[in-house]
Amino acid sequence: MKVHILHTGRVRIDQALAYKEKSIHPAPYTGWFRGNEKKMWVPVSSYLIEHPTGYILIDTGWHEQIRENQKKHLGRFSNSMYTGDLPNGQSVLEQLRSKGIQSHDISLVLLTHLHSDHVSGLQNFKDAKRILTSDIEWKAANRKMGYIKSMWEGIPIETFIPSAIPHGPFKLGLDLFGDGSIYLVHTPGHSAGMFSVMVKMKEDWLLLASDVGYSKKSWQKMILPGVTVNKSDAEKSLQWVRDFSKRKDCILTAANHDPLIRPQTIF
Ligand SMILES: [Zn+2]
Repeated sequence: MKVHILHTGRVRIDQALAYKEKSIHPAPYTGWFRGNEKKMWVPVSSYLIEHPTGYILIDTGWHEQIRENQKKHLGRFSNSMYTGDLPNGQSVLEQLRSKGIQSHDISLVLLTHLHSDHVSGLQNFKDAKRILTSDIEWKAANRKMGYIKSMWEGIPIETFIPSAIPHGPFKLGLDLFGDGSIYLVHTPGHSAGMFSVMVKMKEDWLLLASDVGYSKKSWQKMILPGVTVNKSDAEKSLQWVRDFSKRKDCILTAANHDPLIRPQTIF
């Protein structure tokens, strides 16, 4: 099995969106009325797994529309909180095409959660064989604020109900192929139904921790993301990532937006 870590552009956010702050500001993560010195650029990651069953894509990064008309793509409200940047050739689709892979060659797209920087590029993969997210996330995303529903309009998304697995803060998730090679681990808190992905690499594990924490510092210092829908769940999920990252058989724990995790291929 091979895992490619891709950076599909970057996003400029308030530091309080990445690292929760105590502030007299009611919502510092919005970045509104906060100075430029509080803003930071972080990468937006996606992952391509070369699995015996086919290509698996985890999250879809920014769509090319971020380059062309991001006010329209994100809407003014979201775009007032964050800005995307997608250099030419850096969308997931463009990067895959440069490897000779087309969207219909993808056997499975996994959406760890449905925030815009994870599903913006989804329309490019509507002809993938399957697209899967958590049922809990799907319901929350279609009901609540903080999501851009046009990003999955007309796309056939399948959902799974997290069930008993031997891993995770709640021991809930999905053994994707029933063989223990990939677990989707229910790690809620930042969003209602976010999952992390455990990938078995020979004898060891690679943990793709999505936005449970924004970087390694998050679980080293137990700093929650700025946005949480359930603080106690977010703490449990972050604690689990922290514990898992210390295991001897964990070769790497990667947060989606960690600038220190460079694009690379892991064997
Ligand atoms: Zn994110």
